[in-house]
Order: sequence, then C-alpha cells, then structure tokens
Amino acid sequence: MTAYERHPPHPVGGTIEVIAGPMFSGKTEELLRRLRRASLAKQAVTLFKPERDNRHDTTDVVSHDARRQSAHAVLNAVALETMLEQMVDADEMPDVVGIDEVQFFDEEIVAVCNRMADRGIRVIAAGLDLDYLGRPFGCMPLLLTHAEYVTKLHAICTITGRPAHFSHRVEGGDEDVQIGGAESYQALSREPYNEVVVRSHHRVTSSE
Ligand code: ADP
Ligand code: MG
Repeated sequence: MTAYERHPPHPVGGTIEVIAGPMFSGKTEELLRRLRRASLAKQAVTLFKPERDNRHDTTDVVSHDARRQSAHAVLNAVALETMLEQMVDADEMPDVVGIDEVQFFDEEIVAVCNRMADRGIRVIAAGLDLDYLGRPFGCMPLLLTHAEYVTKLHAICTITGRPAHFSHRVEGGDEDVQIGGAESYQALSREPYNEVVVRSHHRVTSSE
C-alpha cells in the first residue's frame, strides 16, 4: 500500500491549475501570489522546481521581479512524487503544491499532478507553453489538457508594446533548452516575432 493510499483525500478536493505564457509574463509572480494567499489561509504549501533551473538560486524560486520562496529542487517527476510521499509519511501532506518551470519535467509529471489532485491536493503549475522556436514545450500540451484551470499570461512586447506571447532567444546557440534571463531572451508579440524568427526559417508553424 502506498503512502497515498493510506491517507484519505483532502476534504477540499484537488484540482490542477496551470499558469502558462512566455518568459517575463509573470508566471512565477502569479504562482508565488497564489501560494502566499494559501499560506495566509493557514494551508500547508509546498513548492517544487526542476533541479536544472538554477538561474537565480539552487533552492529558492525567484521571479524576474526578485520575489522569492524556498523550494525543493527535484531531478524529475518521479523524484517529486517520492519527496511528496515522504511528506505524507511524516504526516505533512500539503494542501497546495506549486511547481515552477514545469515545462522542464518529463511527461510523467502529468500523471503525478493527476495523482496529487486525485488525493485532494490543489496543484498549481507554472511553465512556458512555447519554446523559443514557437514549438509546444515538452509536457505542457498534455498538462494543459488535464488542467481544470488554465491561465495564459502575456509579457509586454519590447518592440510594439503589445501583449507578448513569444520568447525570442536573442543570443546563444540552438540547444532546445538554454536557461537564461533578460540577457538571452526577449518577449515579443506576433509580428516582430515572425519578423525575426520565421524569416530566418526557424519558427515551426506546423504541428511537427
Ligand atoms: P516569468 O516567470 O513568466 O518568466 P516572472 O514572474 O519571473 O516571469 O517575472 C515577471 C516580471 O518580469 C515582471 O513583473 C517585470 O518586472 C519583469 N519584466 C521584465 N521584462 C518584461 C517584459 N517585457 N514584460 C513584462 N514584464 C517584464
Ligand atoms: Mg518564471
């Protein structure tokens, strides 16, 4: 019998909320805001992040606006679930689980989020929906379809001032994953993004 099975579902009832959008759109800020409100309401809150995202800090989640909260850095979805089971075993089952940079997790994270929600946990996951070439990012399409609630945020396009839906890689190579901030990425709306990316034959507009 797993730790999950030994503990009855939380009375409030679990859900999955996804906060999606490009870089600088305020996903981390919004995630931390929701967690802060839950903490104020005396709910037990736990925050996870993938180990590979160590831009700002190895343990804290930090927004571009310098808001921060301590988090458990985990290698993958299985490691996240293992840590959660340890909490449950210690009678410290969280009411709310936040996950930042969820796009870096493998697709197993979707099953893990569903199992947490089935156990009554409110799961709030924030992540990039598109990569720098405009392709759906990893586990995000699947996670978005499983979520009860989806919030799409936008940054402000640094060229047009319109809502920005794309993260343009300003510098660096063409690795699928390249961790960076304002020095490497720029938030763009559709027209300037198409200008710089589609014209250079990079943007993937089909479903490949
Ligand atoms: P995300 O997690 O979506 O990358 P964060 O929550 O870390 O975003 O940071 C959002 C903050 O980024 C904003 O409040 C603002 O201070 C800053 N920021 C920097 N560039 C932009 C931009 N082009 N549009 C909007 N906010 C920006
Ligand atoms: Mg973020």
